[in-house]
Amino acid sequence: MTILVLGGAGYIGSHTVYELIDNGEDVVIIDNLLTGHKEAVHPKARFYQGDIRDREFLDKVFQKEKIDAVIHFAACSLVGESMEKPLKYYDNNLCGTKILLDSMVANGVDKIVFSSTAATYGEPEKVPILETDRTEPTNTYGETKLSMEKMFKWVGKAHGLRYVSLRYFNACGAHISGEIGEDHNPESHLIPLILQVPNGKREFISIFGDDYDTKDGTCVRDYIHVTDLAQAHILAVKYLQNGNESNIFNLGNGVGFTVKEVIDTARKVTSHPIPAKTTPRRAGDPAQLIASSEKARKILGWKPQHDSLEEIISTAWKWHKNHPNGFN
Ligand code: UDP
Repeated sequence: MTILVLGGAGYIGSHTVYELIDNGEDVVIIDNLLTGHKEAVHPKARFYQGDIRDREFLDKVFQKEKIDAVIHFAACSLVGESMEKPLKYYDNNLCGTKILLDSMVANGVDKIVFSSTAATYGEPEKVPILETDRTEPTNTYGETKLSMEKMFKWVGKAHGLRYVSLRYFNACGAHISGEIGEDHNPESHLIPLILQVPNGKREFISIFGDDYDTKDGTCVRDYIHVTDLAQAHILAVKYLQNGNESNIFNLGNGVGFTVKEVIDTARKVTSHPIPAKTTPRRAGDPAQLIASSEKARKILGWKPQHDSLEEIISTAWKWHKNHPNGFN
């Protein structure tokens, strides 16, 4: 089976490629390398540098390779940036996916697994969040991902394409080998920012608000290991190959940790005091985001393997300690 991974040089994409290749799959990668890293491309994958908004380029890859299914990670994913440059998000995420679907339909490729996000829900009415809960994004990023889901739905009805949308909660950690990991520029995620302190690149970590209605006043998130996310993509491709209908699944551990708990665990893992300072709340941060992933467990047979926060942070630390400047 040949799987095309769009955005396979990015954080979650590269980890998924590693798991696919370990599972014996044949993998083709497309990435424009704007945020992805050439060094994260698995040596056994066939790599095409290009943009999903380039129809001619996509058609050429589909015609050259016999693709059975697509896994689509090629999107902009920074919440803050999406509020400052909404049209960049509409262009890359929505227009890009429209061109991709044109090309898939024209080339007879009918299965796609797609990275969606907890940001499709916006401020939750309750936790844990179910797939059937209200979707009311509070930022452009979440809005474009929700619109992408809807585009798959209607194109699926018209052209017989089937999709699985995976709504991730907080992706984190790194490959067990420590050879690939998270490298965003600029970095905005909590765990890599915390680890910049023991790495000597930052003096303290900021806690964005400690007056939330949570057990210690700081925000609660559901942190899920990137390799567990990768495994869910493989199960989702199999689910579609077995002829199942289009579906949407949450992916999280179902357990929430506060920002302070994450910092404390990082102190334990790194044996560094990691000074922290409370700063004002970050706009648009819900107090709590925790997934119910019962549906993925039941229907896909998914079971996270790296669900302890200590293990998640240990794998991230192995990567960041040995690559303080990321892939550069
Ligand atoms: N956060 C923080 N300090 C930072 C970065 C993030 O306190 O320097 C908090 C943020 O407010 C949120 C949690 O850590 O409650 C996780 O943020 P991240 O940006 O990693 O993921 P998000 O939940 O926004 O997808």
